Amino acid sequence: FGIPETTAPAPKRSGEGLPQTISADLGVPTVHRTVTDYANFDHGATTPALLQVADAVTKVQRRYGSVHRGAGYASRVTTGWFEAARAEVADFVGARADDQVVFTRNTTDALRLLAHCVPQDAQVFAWESAHHAAVLPWPGSRTTRLPVPTSTPHAAQLLREALQHSPSTTNLVVITGACNVTGEIWPVAELVAVAQEFGARTVLDAAQYAPHVALDIAALGVDWVAFSGHKLYAPYGAGVLAGRTDWLDAADPYLPAGGATARVHRDHTQWHRGPARHEGGTPNAVGAVAIAAACATLRSNRTTIAAHEAQLYARLHAGLAAIPGVRILAALGDRPNVGVVTFTVDGYEPSLVSQVLADEHAIAVRDGRFCAHLLCDAIAGDDATAIRASLGLATTGEHVDRLVSAVRRLVEHGP
Ligand code: PLP
Repeated sequence: FGIPETTAPAPKRSGEGLPQTISADLGVPTVHRTVTDYANFDHGATTPALLQVADAVTKVQRRYGSVHRGAGYASRVTTGWFEAARAEVADFVGARADDQVVFTRNTTDALRLLAHCVPQDAQVFAWESAHHAAVLPWPGSRTTRLPVPTSTPHAAQLLREALQHSPSTTNLVVITGACNVTGEIWPVAELVAVAQEFGARTVLDAAQYAPHVALDIAALGVDWVAFSGHKLYAPYGAGVLAGRTDWLDAADPYLPAGGATARVHRDHTQWHRGPARHEGGTPNAVGAVAIAAACATLRSNRTTIAAHEAQLYARLHAGLAAIPGVRILAALGDRPNVGVVTFTVDGYEPSLVSQVLADEHAIAVRDGRFCAHLLCDAIAGDDATAIRASLGLATTGEHVDRLVSAVRRLVEHGP
């Protein structure tokens, strides 16, 4: 495909191609399967590592030392890698000169960090369609939840009406870049424009957006952006909050500890300004380097990745939509998509469908309510679950065809 290779390479039919990591990570002996290659349709949850990321991690693992804490050679080298990773991430998000990049554990942690820094008098606005990580961290008494919108103009209208009635002059709007349930790319620029009419700040939850769409927070006018390494073809345990410095520097440290302290006195503590203020404790330098390697690789391959994913998404969506009894979920309905098709099959529990896909066809999807219960209630029905197929760099055309024919076979012949 001319796209960056991942550590889950296109499998071979014989079973030799089964990526080592998959059987090893499951901790079970490799078993003979009728269909030996594994089709990963769970990129929305976690992505396999890019080869460039695996190489970068290996390089760091061979020679690492303390970060910002040692005079030894390994320590200085690691500190250099860590700060170079920060600069790479700043480029990846299109940061302004006075923005800062804080390394966190993941998107949940990044949004929680921002919630910790929101000024006392601020009002926060979040759509109920967002991932729980973007709905729940804000102070309850100062948060306005906007209902699940049914179109782009509706989303903008809900926001405008809510901001008109805000009890505060300091406002923050939480915008989802791409929906983790439907894959719909949200009208980020339109919503930022509405927020700016009212002088409100914005934070973009880019957990699902960053792996697929080029980010440019300066051009979009977004104040902060949050995303996770493990959804960006890098390992777990590292994420990013990038953006404006003022609220971050004005807040108490998120993790008051070594690294965040400039000087501790008996009666008071002086804290650092800048990213160190919120990165207390020894940072995850391996995770930061891994994210930076992913950012660099995605940035230099955006066009080929987008073409690969658009072609597979069109094939997947058309294939599933043509099966009688398959219902594809959408909220806004008129949006481009990052490569996610979430659906139900009449007469079958989503958990049964996903088990059949895994056990009979070696296809990994996810079923459930995807940490977005209020959105699922609104678009799938109260308490309803669904099946999510999310594609990415480990997906091939054969995987798409296999998924579509497996669902068709289930509908036509039963499990
Ligand atoms: N936001 C969105 C849109 C997501 O899809 C996810 C994870 O699925 C998160 C936030 C939380 O990400 P993490 O679990 O990496 O903190």
